[in-house]
Amino acid sequence: MTKKERFQFVIDYFEKHAPDAETELLYDNTYQLLVAVILSAQCTDKRVNMTTPAIFEQYPDIPSLSKATFDDLFPLIKSISYPNNKTKHLIGMANMVMDEFNGEIPETVPELVKLPGVGRKTANVITSVVHHQPNMAVDTHVFRVSARLGLTTNAKTPLQTEQQLLKYIPREKVHIAHHWLILHGRYVCLARSPKCGECGLRPICKYYKQLVS
Ligand code: SF4
Repeated sequence: MTKKERFQFVIDYFEKHAPDAETELLYDNTYQLLVAVILSAQCTDKRVNMTTPAIFEQYPDIPSLSKATFDDLFPLIKSISYPNNKTKHLIGMANMVMDEFNGEIPETVPELVKLPGVGRKTANVITSVVHHQPNMAVDTHVFRVSARLGLTTNAKTPLQTEQQLLKYIPREKVHIAHHWLILHGRYVCLARSPKCGECGLRPICKYYKQLVS
């Protein structure tokens, strides 16, 4: 099976079984998604979703968040991982958006990664989810599932995974492919005990082939 055929099998499978895949973070606008994604580093979406309503109520937009003090914001964030850093990042992000982007959240990866707390993965999420740009955010699930399926070969870093995936996934499908791979990793292709018995990707999966050979 060629790499192209392998990708096609995976894309066909998810288009049939997960045509509406989307982020599980709850948000109403770009500001809310950006806050949620910054908070989601090393933390579950479920926990972030429990935390964000109170933040959005008190700080409904960039200008209000830019005026928050550490002591105001920290109590709203303290139940999630790395609350100190995340509190500083959110306030720093809002201040930079106000000072350097006229209060508008930028729409490109190179600009977004300048914001405190925003790395390449977060910038790829924002630009693909909000603007449907063909940017692939690689988290631990995307990294693992892509390798197991054989979509990537010897990828050592998230950036290598991103580059290999982008070679074969059509531009217009990149934004949804990100969710396909994340959700598959979260619910089926689990890190420690993948549920191969209920996975429709077995016929082309390299990891499964090794398991049964
Ligand atoms: S067959 Fe198993 S290892 Fe392969 S993608 Fe499915 S769950 Fe993951």
